Amino acid sequence: MPDFVIPAPPVVAVPVAGGGAFPVRRVFCVGRNYAEHAREMGSDPDREPPFFFMKPADALLLNDADMPYPPQCKDLHHEMELVVALSEGGTDIREADALRHVWGYAAGLDMTRRDLQNAAKKEGKPWDMGKGFDHSAPIGLMVPASKIGHPAKGLIELKVNGKVRQTSDLSKMIWNIPETIAYLSRLVRLAPGDLIYTGTPENVAAVQRGDLLEGMVEGVGTVRTRIV
Ligand code: MN
Repeated sequence: MPDFVIPAPPVVAVPVAGGGAFPVRRVFCVGRNYAEHAREMGSDPDREPPFFFMKPADALLLNDADMPYPPQCKDLHHEMELVVALSEGGTDIREADALRHVWGYAAGLDMTRRDLQNAAKKEGKPWDMGKGFDHSAPIGLMVPASKIGHPAKGLIELKVNGKVRQTSDLSKMIWNIPETIAYLSRLVRLAPGDLIYTGTPENVAAVQRGDLLEGMVEGVGTVRTRIV
């Protein structure tokens, strides 16, 4: 044990359905991974390789906790996503081997300060403050692949105050889970504990204080938060 000069930060861990917790190392996110969402953001989904951004692990918001409306923002958007959790890492992972690196899955929300992100895009500046702010990554209970398998299709849906806002199917991802893991592992050495938010389908929109967000990924689980 090194002689820490301040108390060591706690390990962030996502509770697992049925007990236990998944310790998180890093949180990667895929941008524009559903064609209709890429179009609504003004991009051509056919010509773009996958790209990635990150959130700090302690941006995760656990256990149906309330999400404080973030500072410096007038346009907070929801992005409903499937989250992949890795139990094994590596570089240059082959697509055919990729799913063996997956421990499990969860439903998650990539909450976005769209006004800050759009301003950053316009000026060619980084997205970090639009994406990686405190409490920006609500996540539901983790479920092991050993129980549910590896979802390649199925409903992904978000309700706001009981009304459906986003609805699509996991099969509509441009880059599927094995392709995403393989691609990302050529950019960085992946490691146990890494999460990957796999992108949102269309119909992202603003939320306000008081709104209740309830997301669902078929066969995986739910994520729930209220904006306060
Ligand atoms: Mn996203």
